Amino acid sequence: MKQENKCPQCGNTLSGRSDKRFCSSQCRAQAHNANRRQNTGEQLILSINAILRRNRTILRQASPQGKTTTNRQVLQMLGFDFRHFTHTYRTKQGNTYHFCYDYGYLLLEDEKVLIVNWQPYMEKS
Ligand SMILES: [Zn+2]
Repeated sequence: MKQENKCPQCGNTLSGRSDKRFCSSQCRAQAHNANRRQNTGEQLILSINAILRRNRTILRQASPQGKTTTNRQVLQMLGFDFRHFTHTYRTKQGNTYHFCYDYGYLLLEDEKVLIVNWQPYMEKS
């Protein structure tokens, strides 16, 4: 029995060349555009959300009470991604904490990292 292929965009039965994926160039273009929109927008948001969520989980596990010093390498081994954070807090001393939601960190000397909890006074910066 011959397998019937359908256009994934409109559902019409495909005829002619068996390597054709879409029934028309219009359907092909529509599917391509929808795909690209999704990839550049929603997919990007979803993947960054996942990184931020994982970063927060790692900080929380490394420092359940907040205020713990660890090593950058330890966080990296756990899968922490230093490129992504939700916001920053700059202290009067000029140190910049990077936050992933309610957990943040400060890079110290010698590849050390201080993990902190977000505090209400950090609202004003
Ligand atoms: Zn079609």
